[in-house]
Amino acid sequence: MSDIYLDNNATTPLDPRVLEAMLPFLKGSFGNPASASHKFGWGAEEAVEAAREQVGGALNAAGKDIIWTSGATEGNNLAIQGLARLPGERRRHIVTSPIEHKSTVEPCRFLAADGFEVTWLRPDPTGRISAEQVAAAIRDDTLLVTVMMGNNELGTVNPVAEIGAVCKGRGVLFHTDAAQAFGKIPIDVERMGIDLLTLSAHKLYGPKGVGALFARRRGPRVRLQPFMLGGEQERGWRCGTLNVPGIVGCGAAAEIAVREMPEEAVRLSRLRDRLWSGLAARLPEIRLNGNGDHRLPHTLNVSFAYADGDSLMAHLSDIAVSSGSACTSASVAPSYVLRGIGLSDVAARSSIRFSLGRFNTEAEIDRSIERVAETVIRLRRMNPACELARREATALGHDASAPPP
Ligand SMILES: *Cc1c(COP(=O)(O)O)cnc(C)c1O
Repeated sequence: MSDIYLDNNATTPLDPRVLEAMLPFLKGSFGNPASASHKFGWGAEEAVEAAREQVGGALNAAGKDIIWTSGATEGNNLAIQGLARLPGERRRHIVTSPIEHKSTVEPCRFLAADGFEVTWLRPDPTGRISAEQVAAAIRDDTLLVTVMMGNNELGTVNPVAEIGAVCKGRGVLFHTDAAQAFGKIPIDVERMGIDLLTLSAHKLYGPKGVGALFARRRGPRVRLQPFMLGGEQERGWRCGTLNVPGIVGCGAAAEIAVREMPEEAVRLSRLRDRLWSGLAARLPEIRLNGNGDHRLPHTLNVSFAYADGDSLMAHLSDIAVSSGSACTSASVAPSYVLRGIGLSDVAARSSIRFSLGRFNTEAEIDRSIERVAETVIRLRRMNPACELARREATALGHDASAPPP
């Protein structure tokens, strides 16, 4: 039997339909969209502009509000640093949270070391930031609020429309990292009061190395300081010859995802809930990390008491998942996101993220349930602390299904 891929929040396979759309631009249609004087350039430009409309359309934005990037890391950096570095900008305060993706956390930390003040809002135990918290944090010199739409480790979805309304009311720009949410849940930048939004193609069955930043041109008009100079592309904010095949793939990926979202979101959330209830029926002392109600349809994060996540992954060699310590895989530190919502080091290390995708089947979920359950049981048997703790809990009359202290 082949391996099962349940790590779709790390990256997704390319949808064959996206590949089909890209192929002409990897073959004969090689023109540079900036070449305004011949057909080769015109054809490429037409394709890039069509993709811009596809991505804009998926957000209820105009195509002209879309800037092509190399992905969400660049989009987050361009939004945050691009605003902060704008000549003449006097506002020096940024509002964010410590469980954002590193490509938001690190630029904010960098700015904090360079004369900016950053308010790090404390998420609730499910990983949510409230609009009230944002309202209380905004000051006269607040330049930007940046809060992600859906968390990549927990799947928790923030009340983005409420946060957007608060920002609008106070005249503060609102940026959201939608790398995980885009194409999975409905997004409307008008209704949600979003001024800047980051997305990435490879989280949505598109190619790697391409994404987009939505930057509003009116109501208000966003201005950014580019990192790179030397070209007119993308309003001068992101110069360099465009990645035409990638951009075409990003557009196709967006269009497919939005068209199929109503059925696919239901299918994925059913699979996700089947996985959770299958595990919960077989294993005592497991806990759901994240928000039961406000969650991306494809993400399930679980702590397995008395089972180390990395050992679990090592034993589950035929199932691809992420552990609560491997998300920053260069280091063995427990996940800062799980620590950030109050999990102990041990609980964070015993966590596994299952992220489902378009190509997962019910049979794969059922096989994963059996494989994970048998492996957790085996690891717990080998863990001397496990029996002891369970007997103690029973002796004290504690609920054995509660998370470990
Ligand atoms: C993957 C991811 C990113 C980074 O995206 P890249 O396109 O790989 O640079 C940023 N934010 C979130 C929430 C992500 O899941």
